[in-house]
Amino acid sequence: MGIRRYQYAATAGAVLLTAATITTALNGLYIQACLFAVGVLILTEAALREHRRHRRARAECEWARRRALGENPAPLNPCCLLAAASGGQAHDHKCTDHSLEQFLTQVEAEYRDRT
Ligand SMILES: [Zn+2]
Repeated sequence: MGIRRYQYAATAGAVLLTAATITTALNGLYIQACLFAVGVLILTEAALREHRRHRRARAECEWARRRALGENPAPLNPCCLLAAASGGQAHDHKCTDHSLEQFLTQVEAEYRDRT
């Protein structure tokens, strides 16, 4: 619930600013209308970003739940947020790609044997 509050606030703000944009434009206040329009874009982008974040968090919870039940769910796409941000160069601890996890476990095991 707390996660979504920011998304709802951004959406409500975008709707109000859209109304303000239309009202000012109809009254010939074009500079103000442009400023409100910029606000609409910023808040809409924020709302969409929050929506994506929420959807991702839900997908990760579902994925973790299925793994805990002993299932073998397919990795999410992207497998983790760090991979998405780094173009696949790095992965974070919440990575959902099994093959990578197994690979890292193997590397760790080999490293332990050597020392
Ligand atoms: Zn990853």
